[in-house]
Amino acid sequence: MPKSDVLTPIQGIALLCDSQGIIQQIIANNLGLAAAPLVGQALTALVEPSSVEKTQNLLATLHMQRVAFDWLLYVPSANSVIGLHCYAGMVGGQIFIVGTPSQPDAEAFFEALMQINNQHQNTLRQMMKDVAMQQPTASLVQANRLDEFSRLNSELINAQRELAKRNRELTTLAQENAQLYQDAAAALQLRNEFISSITHDLKTPLTTIKGYGEILRRRVTRLELAEPDKLIGPLDTIDATVQRMIEQIEGLLDLARLQMSDTLRINPSEFDLVLLVQRVLKMLAPLLARHQLQFTPLEPSLIGCWDLLYLERMVTNIISNAIKYSPPARLISISLRLESSTTPPQTIMEVCDQGVGIPAAELKRIFEPFYRAENVRKQGIKGTGIGLASVRQIIDLHGGTISVTSEEHVGTCFTIGLPIIPSSTQHGADESIAL
Ligand code: ADP
Repeated sequence: MPKSDVLTPIQGIALLCDSQGIIQQIIANNLGLAAAPLVGQALTALVEPSSVEKTQNLLATLHMQRVAFDWLLYVPSANSVIGLHCYAGMVGGQIFIVGTPSQPDAEAFFEALMQINNQHQNTLRQMMKDVAMQQPTASLVQANRLDEFSRLNSELINAQRELAKRNRELTTLAQENAQLYQDAAAALQLRNEFISSITHDLKTPLTTIKGYGEILRRRVTRLELAEPDKLIGPLDTIDATVQRMIEQIEGLLDLARLQMSDTLRINPSEFDLVLLVQRVLKMLAPLLARHQLQFTPLEPSLIGCWDLLYLERMVTNIISNAIKYSPPARLISISLRLESSTTPPQTIMEVCDQGVGIPAAELKRIFEPFYRAENVRKQGIKGTGIGLASVRQIIDLHGGTISVTSEEHVGTCFTIGLPIIPSSTQHGADESIAL
């Protein structure tokens, strides 16, 4: 098959080899591979050592199936290695092989070669006819070869069409997948918004029950009854149960927030962190009753601009864990201070307990959603593994930091740094989704 200008713009190589893969003719060489030493060499000598076995398999495949599509072989070139997408056919005992660095180029290359091939076939046919008129026996063999070449040619063209069709199908599939992904993301968003609104609705009546419970408790205390515990005991149980239900609902909100972290924004307002911690401690009082509590704010107030609801949740999560993972009567100490040497200055909150601790090997993982350390699972302490992931998310949203130190059977300390950003520079909540 002679060279042609049609092949010049395509980056690739086209070779004619004998049935054993010895290169006989270079039809095109636009890759800058040295032309002269190629002829007479085996195809296996042309490729990288890592591709030798694959080339032998390619030759074996050609002997069995006559055609091979898109085999990736690596060849050395100048000072690098190129991966070539190779297409090959066995034509009348000869192997015709093209290879280009990209699959689309290989297709284009093939197409160009097929066009040339068609032109030459017509010329050849004419020549064969002319020869046949003079030497009928010799031309019969050539005619058979030509027929086989034509058959192979149409096989290759069909394969190429099939390839193009598959490519189109793949593109359509990719578009459909993208649409499905968008639909799923929208459905997820809707679900999370639904969870958010329903949990808020559930929390409101519980907060009312808790409030009335407290009023009743105070009235009972004032009544000076003979056996006040008969009333106060059940009231405390109602309070603790309601608190647990609120915690469970908050857990659901944590989960929804984690799942929509991309769209979450903070809704900042100015408030006093010392007051916030006091409020959380009051709320957790029924659960804290059997522990020793030490709250040490080193400043009378720590005013900053943060998201009130998120910080309340974060503080609640950390203190609830200290309660849950340490036995009764043990000390839970909470300190709050101002660190003014950083820019911007930040508040540092430390929550330490004398509880079960976290195994050293698992310390790194406890902020992952749903991760729970082996010691607490073995001891049957209930939990979901969502709280700390949510804590970290809230701290990240505020540009803060969290670290933990712990020793098993000794206790755990969480240290949280929150930058104090002036209210004017805080990002607004215009497009926020408040959970
Ligand atoms: P949960 O408490 O629901 O299991 P969290 O996300 O709040 O989930 O905590 C993740 C894990 O981190 C806990 O399961 C526990 O193994 C560990 N952990 C968190 N806080 C403490 C603590 N104060 N003491 C010991 N282990 C803790």
